[in-house]
Amino acid sequence: MLLDVHGHPSIDRSRLPDLIAALERWDARLLLADLGASDGGWLHDPEVPHWRSGNELCAAVVAQHPDRFFGYCYVNPKHPREALDEMEQRLNGQRDLFGALKLWVALRCDDRRLDPLMEFCAAYEVPVLQHTWVKAGPAGPGSGNLPGESTPDDLLRLARRHPRVRFFGGHTGGDWEWGIAAMKQVDNIWLDIAGGDATGGYMEAALRAVGAGRIVYGTDVTGRSVTSQLAKVLAVDLPAADRDRILWRNAVDILGERLPAAWRAAFARGGASGEPRLPEVPPGGYVDANAFLGDWPGRRLYGTPPPAQADLVPERLARMDALGIRRAAVSLLDATWLKDAGVANAELAALVRTAPQRLFPVYTLNPIFPAWAEHFERCRSAYGLAPGTGALRLFPAYHGYRLDDPAVDACLERAAAAGLPVVLTWQLEDARMQGAAMQAPDLEAGAVAALAARHPGLRLVVTGAIGSQIRATARGLPGESRVWFDLSRVQGPIDALRGLCREVGEAHLLFGTNTPLHVAASPVLEIADAVAAGLAPAAAAAVRYGNAAAALGLE
Ligand SMILES: [Zn+2]
Repeated sequence: MLLDVHGHPSIDRSRLPDLIAALERWDARLLLADLGASDGGWLHDPEVPHWRSGNELCAAVVAQHPDRFFGYCYVNPKHPREALDEMEQRLNGQRDLFGALKLWVALRCDDRRLDPLMEFCAAYEVPVLQHTWVKAGPAGPGSGNLPGESTPDDLLRLARRHPRVRFFGGHTGGDWEWGIAAMKQVDNIWLDIAGGDATGGYMEAALRAVGAGRIVYGTDVTGRSVTSQLAKVLAVDLPAADRDRILWRNAVDILGERLPAAWRAAFARGGASGEPRLPEVPPGGYVDANAFLGDWPGRRLYGTPPPAQADLVPERLARMDALGIRRAAVSLLDATWLKDAGVANAELAALVRTAPQRLFPVYTLNPIFPAWAEHFERCRSAYGLAPGTGALRLFPAYHGYRLDDPAVDACLERAAAAGLPVVLTWQLEDARMQGAAMQAPDLEAGAVAALAARHPGLRLVVTGAIGSQIRATARGLPGESRVWFDLSRVQGPIDALRGLCREVGEAHLLFGTNTPLHVAASPVLEIADAVAAGLAPAAAAAVRYGNAAAALGLE
């Protein structure tokens, strides 16, 4: 059972049944904030009629589906008098529909105009969900934020001024390392894990800093999926009691009498179930089309200090075994930052040689580096690279070239002539949380589709694209393309995998994890959820392992 403290209805009202079905599959109840209005979508700095209308729509949805939804009152604190009136009407007048306050990006939350609102929340024991993010930008961390968008530092100042108010720290700051470091300094902010990618190391860092009693489950549906956000919790081996605290018990305690009586009764019956858990390994297991060995300069991915090179393969095999991943196509993460990819390829060849039945080497080429052809030949002659034994990989954004550079075409022609598939790295982490000195933009759908069209004989595996980027790329591809996409960053909206199967075709989709930058539990749960929602088991098996044979020669 789940109590999700952070979700929004789709602007497209016809999608509401899909959201309800997704919540029912996971026995989830959702605190809902409607940031839209009848006359338009979400506005960053809405006028009074707009947010009032959003609350009206929220009230209607909650009244219709009281078993699944309970409301946030949403206001813009730039209009404090009207906001207080609205809070009085919704939070005191409609206690059966609204139980907490949602603040978004209209005004940075350390602004004094929030103070009367917070005094109301303290007086009436109303919890507050405050959105926070620290977006990478040209002038350093946070400079990519919207003008009124709060950082975790802003929320820390607000929480110190109002120690009696209990806050959900929205998205744990988005850049969660930043968010955890700020929010742990007070005891009246709970880390809301909603939104953002299911990245490796997140839950471990949160547990180290604040413990299971200060973390609350949230998703940011419908933009994000239930599965990707749940994966953040289920990726970590936790005692059942701690899992319950994160997944519902903490939020039940914080909302207290504010929760509907029927919900309080349901959660009281729930007991220490420790559910949900990761699914059983399905027949055939998984083949991972997108994984890495090695370390990352921006974040310790395996704890600190990082493990020795000799421990990388045993550690990885244990992780794969735990989830039923039979084989994985692996590259060396260090290859993204080394100018001379030949160094990384030699190290990768040595690592893979220790577990050749499990690991499938994907060597890195940098087509603009003067020695790329020499690197290519060394992979073939010294490391035994041939069709069915490995693949090649490009990192255009990290190595700094455009896809229409003639050097790229020359390199891909060589790969196609040798019958070798090429993995094209769209992105490795959410660009909004990249380090200040290491920003690599996403690729462009049109450029990827054009590249595929110029090389119709080449097998191209695109990794780390999100759902909308996959759809945009697929729309530009010719009918008979030999292009596949991995699922590692397909983490929303709800039902994203079934949507991609319809629009892109399941024959073009691959199970991929982007381990260790992301958690493998996310695509595992995404596929299980799609099957529960009606995806044909044969289609799921093709995505889990079958398609990797055609795409990579990886059986
Ligand atoms: Zn949200």
